[in-house]
Amino acid sequence: MSNWKALDQMGSGAATGAAIKADGYGLGAADIVRILYDAGCRDFYVAHWQEAEPLLPLLQDASLSVLNGVMPQDMTNPDLRHPAVKPVLNSMTQVERWIGAGGGRCDLMVDTGMNRLGLSMDESADPLLQELDIDVCMSHLASADEDVPQNGLQLGNFQKVRGTITARRYSLANSAGIALGHDYHFDLIRPGLALYGGIARTELETVIKPVASLETVVLQVRDLKTGDQVGYNAKFTADRAMRIATCALGYADGYLRAFAGNGEMSHAGETLPVLGRISMDLIAIDISNAEPLHEGDMVKCSYNLQKCAAATGLSQYELLTNLGGRFDRVWV
Ligand SMILES: *Cc1c(COP(=O)(O)O)cnc(C)c1O
Repeated sequence: MSNWKALDQMGSGAATGAAIKADGYGLGAADIVRILYDAGCRDFYVAHWQEAEPLLPLLQDASLSVLNGVMPQDMTNPDLRHPAVKPVLNSMTQVERWIGAGGGRCDLMVDTGMNRLGLSMDESADPLLQELDIDVCMSHLASADEDVPQNGLQLGNFQKVRGTITARRYSLANSAGIALGHDYHFDLIRPGLALYGGIARTELETVIKPVASLETVVLQVRDLKTGDQVGYNAKFTADRAMRIATCALGYADGYLRAFAGNGEMSHAGETLPVLGRISMDLIAIDISNAEPLHEGDMVKCSYNLQKCAAATGLSQYELLTNLGGRFDRVWV
């Protein structure tokens, strides 16, 4: 909620939406809709139709856009005609399909240089678009987390699109794009990552607060002698007597094997390094220096997204969206 408000402040008067695809970047889309609706958010974004259905009862007067657009099989989905829902049309085929089915309020994606989804710049002049009832005409920035000429080129293209396509509102910026300044904000900004504590540009370091941290339980405590080995393929060998704990966290929870050799838990201010390979459901941690830990005690992981990304080579997006279904998600 505080991240949404901080981004809203940066948005130079533009409305602030929220990308909540992939179950709210792994944190729980339904909870996020409730929290951000209360903060004032009225524009939500998912990728798939299947993600929309459980959120519909929560939307009240907010809208939910489905970014992947309308395939032939989506046309019979009853959620398509829910008053809060808008398809994001991504191609002329989808535009024709939508008009052919009677049209109605929609969003439109134009590709200004990412070559991912959206009408091409040429197609954006097609007269058929005048038959659409477009709420938000949007485009997506490919490299807003970097200072590269592509940002300015995409901005220039989007300004042209704004001159050709009639829509109620125009929207370009994702989280990183918000930090590129006023020119990029238009009528609506669409943060995702930054809402969940991700920092895509240094300008956001002082603005965005961490959201996700992990906690897991100690299942067993063991004492090792010098030379004892730990975990699959014996990748860790004790060079001294030490005490370790086996905890209920593994790659099936999204704590991927990329954390081997660099992962850290903590307890009462002590850092507890992860030892050896990550198992599917388990990790081993060094608790030699911790105050005594017992079966059933909880240990924490601050899950600092910038640091974890640097240590593992995973993106901040992957670190969030991989978080598995076995965590209880607790909002504090
Ligand atoms: C995912 C997504 C966003 C949010 O992007 P972040 O980089 O997470 O802020 C915005 N717009 C579109 C079209 C997206 O697909």
